[in-house]
Amino acid sequence: MSVKDVHEHIDRNREKDLETLKELVRIPSIASRGQGIEEACSYILGLLRSLGVSAEAYPTGGAPVIFGHIETDKPGAKTVMFYGHYDVQPPEPLDKWDSDPFEPEVRDGRIYGRGVGDNKGQFLAHILALRSYVATGTQLPVNIKFFLEGEEENGSANILDFIIPHKDLLACDLVYDADGGQEPDGRPSMHFGTRGMVDCTFEIETAAKDNHSGHHGNNVPNAAWKMVKFLSTLVDEDGRCAIEGFYDDVIPPTAYEKGMIEALELDPLDVQRVTGAVRPTELSKEDFYMNRMFRPTFNINGLGSGYTGAGYRTIVPGHAVAKMDFRLVKDQDPQDIIEKIRAHIAKYDPDVKLTVGSAVWPSRTDPQIPACRAVMRAVETVYGVKPVIQPLTGATNPEYVFTKIAGLPSICVPYCNADESQHAPNENFTLEKFYQGIHCTAEVLSEIGKEEARR
Ligand SMILES: [Zn+2]
Repeated sequence: MSVKDVHEHIDRNREKDLETLKELVRIPSIASRGQGIEEACSYILGLLRSLGVSAEAYPTGGAPVIFGHIETDKPGAKTVMFYGHYDVQPPEPLDKWDSDPFEPEVRDGRIYGRGVGDNKGQFLAHILALRSYVATGTQLPVNIKFFLEGEEENGSANILDFIIPHKDLLACDLVYDADGGQEPDGRPSMHFGTRGMVDCTFEIETAAKDNHSGHHGNNVPNAAWKMVKFLSTLVDEDGRCAIEGFYDDVIPPTAYEKGMIEALELDPLDVQRVTGAVRPTELSKEDFYMNRMFRPTFNINGLGSGYTGAGYRTIVPGHAVAKMDFRLVKDQDPQDIIEKIRAHIAKYDPDVKLTVGSAVWPSRTDPQIPACRAVMRAVETVYGVKPVIQPLTGATNPEYVFTKIAGLPSICVPYCNADESQHAPNENFTLEKFYQGIHCTAEVLSEIGKEEARR
């Protein structure tokens, strides 16, 4: 038996695989409401155990982590760990759904329901690929581990409760995550890392209330001006962040990663269409992608002070607020950046009050390691087209728990259609992409199995 038999088995079992997805989607596992978590865990544990996977639910401060492993009898085999999440976003607003979010329905070649794409259908593809290996009696090309958390939609708030005491359990050659959508033109994609993030609020209070600008202008300090002055100290004349030491730990791309950027496309009009920007970007392709992937941002999210409504209110604002996010790149340490922001405040305006929201590490995996190259080959084989390969996504997720905390390489290969509407009404997964995902996992296992075991 070979991977060819596995692929044929997947083709013959489409109805059964779809039925399994429906059963899982019917369980409304909404972590933020503590709903359906136990039921989802026991369903997934039952499914994994029926395939010979040793699987347990491990308690955390929130929803449990499901961890399982199954070994191949092939000597010296590599190990792949699949990461996914079984919790889903709340379905509201319910009246915007064309069918019940927890009673999955197939229409026009798509299955609709909360969590079909984010992330139940995508991690299920890995389990269903394993099911076809087991059903055909095909030797597993690699050892397989499953790591399914139940709080991803809640910012993975308690994931470290499991990771830190179980680093040994997690040992593997690659963490593999199928999440998000492919390219709008249908081509598959992949990336090898994420940016980190510090988000924070700056506040200035100069008076307990807004004051009459005729009676008190020039005499009561203006919080809006003070905030503008403070914000202007954060940026230098070239638009770079002026916080001392902010760029100290930025690691530039390797020659290989630069080559990956070179292979990407950039259409300035398309960027304008997607962003709604007033003008098409004048950035070079290199700068555009360097900005997205390899350079940190220091971005104002919002500003507030005084009066901006219709007409005029002649006041001296007593309060001003600015919210900012700093997207970090390898090897910027979020705690170190927070300290540098504090030092900047102490130097330029100690009246600024800082509140820090999240602090997340960036994550970056070397795309040239053998396991990553094997995934690239597998994806091209299954989809019959070269994947769009981005070294990194500009966004932020908890991937650092694998790469930074556990020291493991990690790759993300989205299986869903670009218009999956995750987090929104009418979330959907095209059946074609769902089945391709199962084939993709089967092929990935086979290709990684061809790589020599790491000693
Ligand atoms: Zn999500």
